[in-house]
Amino acid sequence: MSFTKSIFCALLAAIAGHAFWAQPGRAEGNTSRAAPSQNGFDILVLGARGGVQDGNLSAYMIMPYGDHHAIMCDAGTLVNGLNVSDHLGKLTDFSVENTTPLTPTGYMLHHVIQGYLISHAHLDHIAGLAISAPDDTPKPLYALQSTVDDLSHSVFNWRIWPNFADQGSAPFLKTYTYHPLIPAQPLPLQNTAMEVTAWPLSHGPVISTAFLIKSGSNALLYLGDTGPDSVENTHRLKTLWHAVAPDVQNHQLKAIIIESSYDNSRPDKTLFGHMTPRWVLKSLHDLAQETGKATSLQGLTVLISHIKYTLTTGKKIQDTIRRELDAENDLGVKFVIAEQGLRLHVQ
Ligand SMILES: [Zn+2]
Ligand SMILES: [Zn+2]
Repeated sequence: MSFTKSIFCALLAAIAGHAFWAQPGRAEGNTSRAAPSQNGFDILVLGARGGVQDGNLSAYMIMPYGDHHAIMCDAGTLVNGLNVSDHLGKLTDFSVENTTPLTPTGYMLHHVIQGYLISHAHLDHIAGLAISAPDDTPKPLYALQSTVDDLSHSVFNWRIWPNFADQGSAPFLKTYTYHPLIPAQPLPLQNTAMEVTAWPLSHGPVISTAFLIKSGSNALLYLGDTGPDSVENTHRLKTLWHAVAPDVQNHQLKAIIIESSYDNSRPDKTLFGHMTPRWVLKSLHDLAQETGKATSLQGLTVLISHIKYTLTTGKKIQDTIRRELDAENDLGVKFVIAEQGLRLHVQ
């Protein structure tokens, strides 16, 4: 190795932590076997907000209930969300399995999280992924091609961050393997008992993604950032509701995770590809209409994500959003406001 090359390699290793030369392997610490869900899903919120609070940004861990092979829906915050969950006592059942020298957070990252579904490459959805990459184990990264392109051109490009993936700017550290998703085509999620189907969403100038996750006879729908169809001038939400209506009709859909970034005081012209409680309710009505039955969403858990953190004193925006959702909830859905460390069994 020439002097120049050895300096280059030392630099790479320094930037990439030990990932460049000592990628941690996938040890056999997790003894539970992936099993299709018979009893709904377990949701663990690792990051709840849509900004501006670093350390608490969109990240939802999903696993079939009772099965510890999980997938992340977005990864705005990973390690901090796991630490907070641990401190809240939400990881005790995982910790029992941990016979490794890893901390509870390390065990979750290396042995429980089996891959990432990334809705779009905005920083509040990928910051945790990028920051933890030097100490992450090799995993698949599932996303629409447009998101893969954004990640490989603009994030994992050796300029903004080392290339921890397997495409784009060489050399490839290959911690993450891109799996481009084709809209409306189901794909099994490796090393889990789940499969995913993606639909594009309109999010201002960016294509975002909805992920329908299925396991056995159970389904869960996660929406990345999205604006309302009429404001975005598209039919993407209508297409999505049409596609998932059968899962509602046969009671297989156990939860919807959907954003309400702002409260109802936000004018449509400054939504920037986001939703308010009024638009969430309108969209859920559209879904109910697709099922042909006004009462079809009764009792369905709707987890509200991506509320923008505010720096002003006064009323908590979560409380305002909750009140606005409940005030016009004639669908009988069960609204839950996402909070970091919240663990929810939906069935
Ligand atoms: Zn966002
Ligand atoms: Zn976004």
